[in-house]
Amino acid sequence: RMKVDEEPAPAIIMSKEKILKEVKAKAATEKPVLSLVVIGHVDAGKSTLMGRVLHELGETTDREVASNQRQSEKIGKGSFAYAWTFDAMDEERERGVTIDVAIDTFSTQRKRFTLIDAPGHRDFVPNMISGAAQADVAILVVDGASGAFEKGFEGGGQTREHALLVRSLGVQQIIVAVNKLDAVRWSEVRYKNIFDQLFPFLTDIGFMPHKITFVPVSASTGENLTKQTNELLRAWYDGPTLVEELDSLPVPTRALDVALRIPVSNVFKGQSATASGLAVTGRVESGIVQVGEKLAALPGDESGIVRALEVNGELVPYATAGANATIFLSGIEANQLSVGSVLCPRSQPVPVVSTFTAQVLVFEPKHPITAGYAVELFHHSRDIPASIVALEAMLDKTTGKVTKTSPRMLPKNSSARIRVQLRNATTGGRSGAIPIEPFSVNKAMGRVLFRRNGETVAAGIVLETLQ
Ligand code: GDP
Repeated sequence: RMKVDEEPAPAIIMSKEKILKEVKAKAATEKPVLSLVVIGHVDAGKSTLMGRVLHELGETTDREVASNQRQSEKIGKGSFAYAWTFDAMDEERERGVTIDVAIDTFSTQRKRFTLIDAPGHRDFVPNMISGAAQADVAILVVDGASGAFEKGFEGGGQTREHALLVRSLGVQQIIVAVNKLDAVRWSEVRYKNIFDQLFPFLTDIGFMPHKITFVPVSASTGENLTKQTNELLRAWYDGPTLVEELDSLPVPTRALDVALRIPVSNVFKGQSATASGLAVTGRVESGIVQVGEKLAALPGDESGIVRALEVNGELVPYATAGANATIFLSGIEANQLSVGSVLCPRSQPVPVVSTFTAQVLVFEPKHPITAGYAVELFHHSRDIPASIVALEAMLDKTTGKVTKTSPRMLPKNSSARIRVQLRNATTGGRSGAIPIEPFSVNKAMGRVLFRRNGETVAAGIVLETLQ
C-alpha cells in the first residue's frame, strides 16, 4: 500500500494529446465502462436482482453467498441470501470509510459496469440523487406481482419519482426490469399491462423511446437474468435477457475535450486497498485528471496536488471523463473539501455563485410554486437551502418559447424559467455560494433539482450564472 503523504509530488509527465491517443487505443482493445444505478420502489426486488446478477456473473463467490445465507437465516430472512450479497457493500459504510454511495463493478461479455448503490427508501432520496447524478444507465425495477406495481407507480410510490429524478439528472438510457413475474405465473397480459402504463410515462418525462427497454424477470428464481429456462416465459418471450440487454447498450460519448470537472461525492482520510491519506471520491464528469496535477477545490481559495488516483480498485496515472475515481490529495486540509466541492484546474474555474437562472420542469408539488418559494437545491452531491426568488416566464414544453412572462404561480407539469438564490447568500460564508455552470457550457455541471418537504418539486438546467 502506497502511503500518499510521504510520496514526493511527481511531475506531470504526459501531455493531454498523448493521453487522448492512449484512451483511443484502449477503447479499441478494452471493455468500455458504464456506470449503472438501480432504482425503484422499496421491495421491488432491487437488492435481490443485483445480488443475483453479480453472483451469476461470478463476481461473488459461492462461499460469500453461503455465508450471507447463514447470516440472514440467523435473523429470519432466509430468502434474502442474494440481497445480502449486495448489502455486504454496506460494510464499507459501517467502517466509516465511504458515506453515501457504495460502488461495485461487474463485467459482461463486452462491457464493464460500475454499479452505484442508491438506497430506495424515502429518506434516502438525497443519496439516490447523488448516485443517479453519477450514472449513465438506470435499471428501474418494478414489482410485477398483482397490485404491487400500481402501489409503486401511483400516489406516493417511488417508481415515478425515481424515474423523474434519473432523467432530470441526465441519465438517458433506462432498462425496466419487470420483476416477480414468477408470482403471476409469467402472465404475458400482466407484463403488457405494466408496459402500457409505464412506457407513456417514461416518454412523457423525456426518455427517448429507443432508449427505453423492458425485460421480464424473476430476481429470486434468476429467470431471464443471464438465461431463459422457464417454459411459461419462453412461450411468449424470445427477447434478450437482462444481462444481454446491458451488454448491448450503446456507450455514451465522454466529454474528454472539455475542462476538467470532478464534483466530490465523499471526503475521507484513510486507507483504500491501494493507498492512504486524504482522499475524495467523485466522478470525473468532463476532461482528464492526472497524478501530479494541481487542482482548485471550489468553493474556496485552496488547491491540492493529486498524489494518486484509483479507479476500480487500481492505481492509475490518469482518469478520464466517465470514471468514478478516488483522488488522493496533498497540500490541502480536509476542512477545505466537502461533499459538493468541485475539483477543477485553477486556470479554468467553475463560476462560484449564489444566484442563477434555470429552465425547469415542474413536477406535482402539493403547494403551487410562487415567488419566494423555499426549496432545497440539489446539485450533484450537494444539497443546500435556496429560494425561487422570481418566476420569469412560463415556457411551452416542447418548443421552449415563452408563453407568459412573470406568471404569479407555476402549475403542475409546467415548464418555466426561474431565478434561484441560495438562502445563505446574504449571511456570507462558504455555504453562501456554490460552483455551478450553465448547461450550455458543461452538461454535467448544469443540472439542478429542487425538493421541498421531502418531495421533488422541479428539476432542470442552469441557464445563466449571475452573481
Ligand atoms: P428492494 O427493497 O427493492 O431492494 O427489494 P428486495 O430485493 O429486498 O426484495 C424485497 C422482497 O421481494 C424480498 O422478500 C424478496 O425475496 C422478494 N423478491 C425479490 N425478487 C423476487 C422475485 O423475482 N419473485 C418473488 N416472488 N419475490 C421476489
